[in-house]
Amino acid sequence: MIYQEAFKKIQEARSILLLTHVNPDADTLGSALALYHQLRSMGKRCKVFNATQLPYNLDFLPGIEKVSKQIPKKYDLMISFDAGDFQRLGIEERGAFLINIDHHRSNTAYGDINLIEPDFAATAQVVYKLLRLNSLIPTKEAALCLYTALVDDCGFFKYESVDEEVFEMAGALCRCGVEPHYVAKQLTMREPLAKLRLIQRLLETLELYHKGRVGVIRLTQDMLKATGAAKEMADDALSMVRSLATVEVAVLLREEEDGRIKVSLRSKDLVDVSRIALTFGGGGHKNAAGFTDGEDMDGVLRELLEKLAKEKGIETKE
Ligand code: 5GP
Ligand code: MN
Repeated sequence: MIYQEAFKKIQEARSILLLTHVNPDADTLGSALALYHQLRSMGKRCKVFNATQLPYNLDFLPGIEKVSKQIPKKYDLMISFDAGDFQRLGIEERGAFLINIDHHRSNTAYGDINLIEPDFAATAQVVYKLLRLNSLIPTKEAALCLYTALVDDCGFFKYESVDEEVFEMAGALCRCGVEPHYVAKQLTMREPLAKLRLIQRLLETLELYHKGRVGVIRLTQDMLKATGAAKEMADDALSMVRSLATVEVAVLLREEEDGRIKVSLRSKDLVDVSRIALTFGGGGHKNAAGFTDGEDMDGVLRELLEKLAKEKGIETKE
């Protein structure tokens, strides 16, 4: 069984490198840190790597201060978390056997062992399955990391991916010592003023297309400078756009530091935005996906709107 095979590799390894994806979220960091705590409790040496900046609101995750931009000199096993393709890890080359743990349907199976569960709500759920199938009970720290990853990736139990098993995992993690309100408070109730100022500006850019079924907001580098906000702070504005009654697909067009255009897509249940992101060289999930394309914001939007017009649930001829 592949989960036992993966665990055997972990047991045989002396020093393990845990890899999280660029522009990390709670799922990649929480999953990696959960395994970090669990493996350390078993006496393993491990390091967590991330190539980019960490989000402002995950500072409460135990072990986050150990996450490093440095690849250690020696390690004999790599494990990646929540990264649909190898490029998302932001590393040049693979220096050891690689276990790829993920829940993206678009995962390219770049590992030597691939634990991929496209129907799972979070990569944390795959990590939890790995622990359970090997009779391990999460430590208190690991449970907190897994719970945070899980609730963040399923929108606090709102998304289509939520089922009985998600609640069972959440319940089991509570039995390991997690306090749900503590996590909710850390994730959602200590926002900086800069974030609200940014959301204010973002909502001013809102444009509706295709009979109000597509909502678009734009984020420029100037808006980040003017408000002092971080780019991931735009996520909630995008959720607000999706929350509109008429909207089926919400689009965030973001100007990156290098001028390239990063596009984030969110849908309700009719449109599979991961398919659309794939046609632009990106990826993601049915209801949350993204890609980076060119430097012409209006051009990218035009092309995207043309593709969206053909989607069931958006098409305007009736
Ligand atoms: P976000 O829009 O928040 O950056 O990402 C939403 C989802 O789409 C996440 O699951 C993320 O992994 C995926 N995603 C976003 N951008 C890219 C990309 O450029 N390539 C791939 N493969 N996936 C992406
Ligand atoms: Mn995820």
